[in-house]
Amino acid sequence: MARPRVRDDVALMPGYHSPQVDVRVRLNTNEAPDAPPPAFTESLAVAMRGLAWNRYPDRSAAALRSRIAEVEGVAVHGGLSLSNVFAANGSNEVLQTLCLAYGGAGRTVLTHEPTYALHSHIARVCGTEVVEGPRNDDFTLDVAEVVSRVHSVRPAITFLCSPNNPTGRLEDRETVLEVLAAVESVDGLLVIDEAYGQFSPWSALSLVDEDRSIVVTRTYSKTWSAAALRLGYLVGPTWCVAELDKVVLPYHLDALKQLAGLLALDHLNEMDARVARLVEQRGRVANALDSLEVDQWPSSANFILFRPRHRSGDQVWAGLVERSVLVRNCASWPGLTDCLRVTLGTPDENDEFLAALGEVLG
Ligand code: PMP
Repeated sequence: MARPRVRDDVALMPGYHSPQVDVRVRLNTNEAPDAPPPAFTESLAVAMRGLAWNRYPDRSAAALRSRIAEVEGVAVHGGLSLSNVFAANGSNEVLQTLCLAYGGAGRTVLTHEPTYALHSHIARVCGTEVVEGPRNDDFTLDVAEVVSRVHSVRPAITFLCSPNNPTGRLEDRETVLEVLAAVESVDGLLVIDEAYGQFSPWSALSLVDEDRSIVVTRTYSKTWSAAALRLGYLVGPTWCVAELDKVVLPYHLDALKQLAGLLALDHLNEMDARVARLVEQRGRVANALDSLEVDQWPSSANFILFRPRHRSGDQVWAGLVERSVLVRNCASWPGLTDCLRVTLGTPDENDEFLAALGEVLG
C-alpha cells in the first residue's frame, strides 16, 4: 500500500521551525519576560469554577469581543463595536482565517521580505499564490515601488507588518495611507500585522473605518504576557468580520480562553506599565549595542535586530548558546545574512545577554 499523497505544494514546503533550546536566558520568541499579574491568575482561577464545562462556549465570544472593542475603540474615531472585532487562537489563526476568506486558489497575497515568515507560509497553506517584493537595504519600503507592485500584481491581500518582525521597523501613517489607496484601487484588502503595535508610538488602528479596506491584527502573546493562552484578534470593518465568521470553525474559541481574554483586560494599567518598562529596556540595550562591534536597526518593537561586524551570525549565536543565552538566529534567512534578533527581557536577562555578547565578540 502506498502512503497517501500529500498536496504537491505542501510536499515542497519546508514548514515553520523555531528551535526551543533548553537555556537559562530565552530571548528568541518575543514573548513577555514576566508572568501575568497575580491578580489576573487569581481572578481566572475563581471565575473558571463557574464555567459550564458540559456546554459549548458562546460561539460568538460576544463578551470578549465587546470588551476588546471597548479597549481598542479608544484609538478609533467613533469607537468600535463587537462586530468590528474577530478573535481567534493566536493572531496566526486570525491571519489564516483572513487567507481562507480572502485568499485561496486563483488569488494572490503580496508581502515585502524580509518580514514575518508566517504571512507567506499561511497564504501558501491556504492555496494562495504569494508574490514577495523586496525592501531597501535598510529594510525600509520603497513606497512608490510598493504602490506600483500592488497595481501590477493586484493582490487579494497585501500584508504589512508594522513594527516589522524581524527588522523592528515601523511604517508611518503616510506610508500606510499610500499603500491603502493602491490596495483599494485594485479592490484588495490591506492587513496591518500589529503583533508588536503596543510597543510603538503610532498604530494603524486609527485608520480603521467602515469605508476603508484595512484591518489591524493584534495579539495577547506579547503585551499581555499570555503567549500560552493563544489568543489574538483583528479590528476592522464589520463587512470583513462577518466574512471571517463564516469560514472559522464553529466554537473555535474555548470558554476558558474567552474568560481569560476578558479578565486580562481588567489589568490595562499594569500592562501599560510593563510595555513602558520594555520600551525603556529597548533604549538601554540599543545604547549598549552601540558600543559593541555590531550593526543594529532602529526598533519600535520588543526586540532588536543586529549583525556582528567581524564574526558570522552562526558563530555568535552558538557562542551565546554556550553561555546559556538564546536569541533568534536569522543568519540564513533571505535578506538577513548574519543577522540575529534579540527579544528584550528583564533588566537582568538583558544584562546577561549583553555580557555574553561582549565576551563572544571578544
Ligand atoms: N505576527 C507577528 C509579526 C508575529 O511576530 C507573531 C508571533 N511571533 C504573530 C503574528 C503570531 O502571534 P500569535 O499567534 O502568538 O498571536
